[in-house]
Amino acid sequence: MIEVKNVTKKYGKAVAVDNISFNIKEGEIVGLLGPNGAGKSTTMNMLTGFIEQTEGEILINGYDILKKPKKAKKEIGYMPEGVPLYTDLTVKEFVTYMAEIKKVNKKEKKQKVQEIIEKTGLKEVQNKLTKNLSRGYKQRVSMAGALVGEPKILILDEPTVGLDPKQITEIRNLIKELGKTHTIILSSHILSEVSQICNKVIIINKGKIVAIDTPEKLENKVTNNNSVYVTIEDPENKIRNIKEKIKDIKEIKLIKENEDGSKQYMIEAEGKVDLRKTIFNQFAKENITIFELKKIDSTLEDAFMKLIEGGEK
Ligand code: ADP
Ligand code: MG
Repeated sequence: MIEVKNVTKKYGKAVAVDNISFNIKEGEIVGLLGPNGAGKSTTMNMLTGFIEQTEGEILINGYDILKKPKKAKKEIGYMPEGVPLYTDLTVKEFVTYMAEIKKVNKKEKKQKVQEIIEKTGLKEVQNKLTKNLSRGYKQRVSMAGALVGEPKILILDEPTVGLDPKQITEIRNLIKELGKTHTIILSSHILSEVSQICNKVIIINKGKIVAIDTPEKLENKVTNNNSVYVTIEDPENKIRNIKEKIKDIKEIKLIKENEDGSKQYMIEAEGKVDLRKTIFNQFAKENITIFELKKIDSTLEDAFMKLIEGGEK
């Protein structure tokens, strides 16, 4: 459905997007995830034909976005970053105006506009000026604009930014609902959001793609959910012999020395083993007193940070 091949965007000498390639299949909900300035908006602007790439090729449904812009853009609904709404229009007027721009059939226009207003939960506010709406409603109006013309692909740039928690939940649910009938690409710098909504994540940092995978696989790939922190009293430093005694230990690292003389270590397991029981028993045998023992919960957030750090090297 979307093919991005070796695409680069330069602003003067600055490279905003650096030789990225990826494919998006019909029905996927893809999250473009990365910190501020990573190149998410630039990528989305190129996918929508809003700006031209410096190098590379973008195909939408097989149509080159630069060579066949009309055919390519027909399939795309775009919700740009922020809420650039025509403030002196009511909600209904704005959606109608979008329908005119997108050349929706005159006879169907009224009905289509109503359908979209209902789908995006804007019925009660349809006669209000967009400028008087809350941020959450403005975002819905922007989403309504993207839905006009029944595009198969929705490109949503930071759809939840600036919203309060309740509005965020509402917009996420709306996106999930739309995901049943659309291919969606959304950008975000919030990992938990992407992992909740998307079935594929593209992590981008400094214009480069650092990973493409499902949220679950990304988590497995870059986290070790088998490390533990242990704080011990061990004046004779018996811990140095522990690694030989517990075969499942891959590495023992000193994390910090506390004022009371106790020391905290991170113990990493070989493979997917929970070391806690073994450590507890073996340390007791060696007369090493355990003050604290806890599993390190690594999350997708850690995975994200690792990938971003890795990308900076
Ligand atoms: P993101 O959306 O991930 O926050 P952007 O795509 O907006 O990132 O920006 C990527 C990089 O390109 C940034 O370093 C930004 O400063 C730069 N950039 C974006 N738009 C322009 C522009 N019109 N002119 C010059 N540099 C730009
Ligand atoms: Mg952006």
